[in-house]
Amino acid sequence: MTDKTPGPEARPHTAEAIPRNLCTDCGISRTDDPKACGRACQFIRPDYHSLETRVHGRPRDPSKPDELHFGVIQKMLRASLIPAAEGAQWTGITSHIGAHLLEAGLVDAVLTVAPDAQDRWRPVPVLITEPSDMSGVRGMRMGFAPLLSLLKPALEAGHKKLAIIGIPCQIYALRALEAELGFDRLYVIGTPCSDNTTTERFHDFLALLSDAPETITYLEFRADYHVELRFSDGEVRTIPFLQLPISKLPPDFFPLTCRTCVDYTNSLADITVGYMGGSGEQWLIVRNARGAQLLAGIQHNLKTSQPDSAGKRQASVRGFIANVERAAGGLPLRSLPDWARPLVGWLMPRIGPRGLEFARTRVEMKAAETVIHLQRALPRRMKHMIPDHVWALVAPYGLTPSANRNQHTDGAQGAEEGGGASSGKA
Ligand SMILES: Cc1cc2nc3c(=O)[nH]c(=O)nc-3n(C[C@H](O)[C@H](O)[C@H](O)COP(=O)(O)OP(=O)(O)OC[C@H]3O[C@@H](n4cnc5c(N)ncnc54)[C@H](O)[C@@H]3O)c2cc1C
Ligand code: SF4
Ligand code: SF4
Repeated sequence: MTDKTPGPEARPHTAEAIPRNLCTDCGISRTDDPKACGRACQFIRPDYHSLETRVHGRPRDPSKPDELHFGVIQKMLRASLIPAAEGAQWTGITSHIGAHLLEAGLVDAVLTVAPDAQDRWRPVPVLITEPSDMSGVRGMRMGFAPLLSLLKPALEAGHKKLAIIGIPCQIYALRALEAELGFDRLYVIGTPCSDNTTTERFHDFLALLSDAPETITYLEFRADYHVELRFSDGEVRTIPFLQLPISKLPPDFFPLTCRTCVDYTNSLADITVGYMGGSGEQWLIVRNARGAQLLAGIQHNLKTSQPDSAGKRQASVRGFIANVERAAGGLPLRSLPDWARPLVGWLMPRIGPRGLEFARTRVEMKAAETVIHLQRALPRRMKHMIPDHVWALVAPYGLTPSANRNQHTDGAQGAEEGGGASSGKA
């Protein structure tokens, strides 16, 4: 993450968000057509099958390797940008794609989020038109940004060819409305996303990790089961997931939206740029011809290899599900005595699922979490919010639609934002 001021077209959103039950304020409710939420929202009646077909030419095919877990795949790679970009979350492939598109004149602007001038962790939507300004948006911020509120301002500024960098709930709404937006060309670069929370809540978490939380400049949940922290004086610290102070977080630390989100891997992006399946490097999923074009444009700056895979996920996922169920809506703390945590923390990167198997593990955990939390808090929404492929991911663990429908009546147990949360990461 970086403190550099974003580009000249950076401007904050103005309209207020319209309150909705399940909402990550993707920006649609702030537009002059807030009713569009009804057609656009991932949390109402998502239709991945139709949108995948429209965007990629076909829906995910569970008979092809990994498509059930990760969505439509044309090509999957492990990759690093050479040299790594300063201030990037990983090596900077995401922001580099945006800079390349601007340099090559393939887009007029890149719509993404920058750090707020007063709070480096708060995402603020921006339109970038100068390639060099992409350096100012590198890094991860925790929180929700009304990214799509700048679609209309982008068009009004004459940006008919646009690239968008976004997280899955933003990209779902974008794709749902794409045909009616009026852009000549959209390039969609997605990152995976899980366990987001409000920026305010994230500051509470940072305060548990350091006596000087304002000096933390970087945080990442790495694929080797450690959280990496970087500080403004250059110090780097890693903490095993098992030793994070999760028990000190309030049960609703993660909002219900992020506990019931069905699209971890950003399946409607042209290209997904993450790290989960990268064994310490980045992980690219090219999904369609436009994604292949994005990769080709920067390939000469990348070191690439085939993703590897090791370990077995089933026991980890089963244990996670038991913890989520036991937590009864609270945080799924692992049932380990304190003395065993350092040992298990040491063992996990060595014998736990790694590479693509780690990514599959996380996708299955998130799918199970969605089912369990919706079942508890909003059973009525299950029928429309949970796509068939998510049911297929959790079926081996005994979570099935018929079992859930039989167990729960409409409105059972849950307040809309009640209950608590999870992190398979933690
Ligand atoms: C809340 C959150 C959770 C994530 N969880 C996972 C995960 O579990 N597994 C995984 O593989 N990847 C996850 N990612 C993606 C990962 O952190 C990296 O962003 C990704 O690997 C790209 O790295 P990079 O070096 O190429 O990005 P950079 O070149 O540094 O660019 C990062 C881009 O992400 C955008 N961005 C940063 N924060 C946000 C935000 N809050 N909302 C929207 N856009 C944002 C920036 O504006 C920038 O364009 C998550 C991202 C977020 C925001
Ligand atoms: S479409 Fe966006 S703004 Fe509208 S309810 Fe969904 S997340 Fe909220
Ligand atoms: S976890 Fe899902 S709902 Fe939450 S911010 Fe990420 S993409 Fe959006």
